[in-house]
Amino acid sequence: MALMTADQYRDSLKELKRTIHFMGSKIEDVASHLATRPHVNAAAMTYEMALDPQFENLCTATSHLSGKRISRFTHIHQSPEDLVKKVKMLRLIAQRTGSCFQRCVGLDALNSLFGVTYEMDHKLGTSYHQRFLNYLSYVQEKDLMCTGAMTDPKGDRHLPPSKQKDPDLYLHVVQKREDGIVVRGAKAHQTGAVNSHEIIAMPTAAMEAADEAYALAFAIPADAPGLLYIFGRQTNDSRKWEGEIDQGNACYGTVGGEALIVFQDVFVPWERVFLCGEYEFTGPLVDRFASYHRQNYGGCKAGNCDIIIGAVSALAFAQGVAGASHIRDKVAEMVHLTETLYSGAIACSSEGNKTPSGAYFVHPLLAKTTKLNVTRFYYEVCRLAQDIAGGYLATMPSEQDLKDPEVGKLIEKYLDPGTGASTEERLRLGRLIENMTCGAPLVEVMHGAGSPQAMKIILLRQAALEQKMKLAKKLCGIDK
Ligand code: SF4
Repeated sequence: MALMTADQYRDSLKELKRTIHFMGSKIEDVASHLATRPHVNAAAMTYEMALDPQFENLCTATSHLSGKRISRFTHIHQSPEDLVKKVKMLRLIAQRTGSCFQRCVGLDALNSLFGVTYEMDHKLGTSYHQRFLNYLSYVQEKDLMCTGAMTDPKGDRHLPPSKQKDPDLYLHVVQKREDGIVVRGAKAHQTGAVNSHEIIAMPTAAMEAADEAYALAFAIPADAPGLLYIFGRQTNDSRKWEGEIDQGNACYGTVGGEALIVFQDVFVPWERVFLCGEYEFTGPLVDRFASYHRQNYGGCKAGNCDIIIGAVSALAFAQGVAGASHIRDKVAEMVHLTETLYSGAIACSSEGNKTPSGAYFVHPLLAKTTKLNVTRFYYEVCRLAQDIAGGYLATMPSEQDLKDPEVGKLIEKYLDPGTGASTEERLRLGRLIENMTCGAPLVEVMHGAGSPQAMKIILLRQAALEQKMKLAKKLCGIDK
């Protein structure tokens, strides 16, 4: 069995010697620093649940390479059932963290590269797949967490990488050597970047011949020389060092702890390069990764919606309105939206197909539809939650005042719901709803795994409109 415990995962992060900037100073230990600790805890849940016998069936799998029991987060999908189990696992973990646990990006990068390196070798006679298999065995054996680094800063969006004023706005090769390549550039919004063991870099978009130097996929250890991390701020993040209650979710935080990764002439040995210059395979690689990650959103976001539904329902009980018909109607609507998200993820998994490499791939159109629904339905779930919770969501007093000897008793008196629930319970539920329905989570559901417009463009491409027109014309008698 190749599985790490949650504590071993936390300890393993201490061994990575990296430069991580945050608010004018440096983070030395991500597992204990108040800004990053909640995200480490969320990722640690993926390790904890893999070793819990009751979740073994979903959170672990049998490696098709070694035959050993491995984390499902390092597994190559061998059947539609594997794809379905992935979605179920994500919902289950999200129900325990109430936030992003980050490890799926690496899983999707591994599965995308598995298929695309195979297809590339088959067509071009390259030898990337075997290199990738060696790397995959290493990741599975060590139970590593990988971050999938996709999004380049992009500069002027109208211009391709090679036409940018600054060539570093897309990650690119600056030197090819006998033993490897040297890369320069950056990857933005990188989920789990500061608490992963490995970085798997891939192109952000399909490249043309002129952008050959930007057609690039590789893996490096997270502490490779020349890497620098700038950890991003989040809505209300200073509450992390002000106390517990006002954070809403003090243990697991909110969204994925994103960072900007800067590659300052980083050396990558050839054995870890999986695509270099084969620009015609960048499109398939991007689509493969994006589809896998869009599948996920119907799992993890459904799990997060479960928590929001639970929090508003508990708050409605605490405030004595749980039986009101309009509250019940809104909660029913939230459940309907959540299960619709989940259905999409299950459908694109069940309809998954075998790729030439033997790995299974989700139904791409259904995966995109799932994510597009997330950009709307999660917002609607949040809107309904705020509607039920009431205006106090935006006006709650602070934890400091609740504990203040002078005004604390006034807060206790005037915010007491009078139903037997305590003022503190009411505030804690309110803060959790605030944490999950305001600020960073909304932006994340909109743009994570691809912005809506990007999805609509591909949706139209894959929608078989010609065929639909033919069907319509036949039915109305235009085509006999
Ligand atoms: Fe995983 Fe969801 Fe976070 Fe993406 S947003 S890394 S799918 S938990």
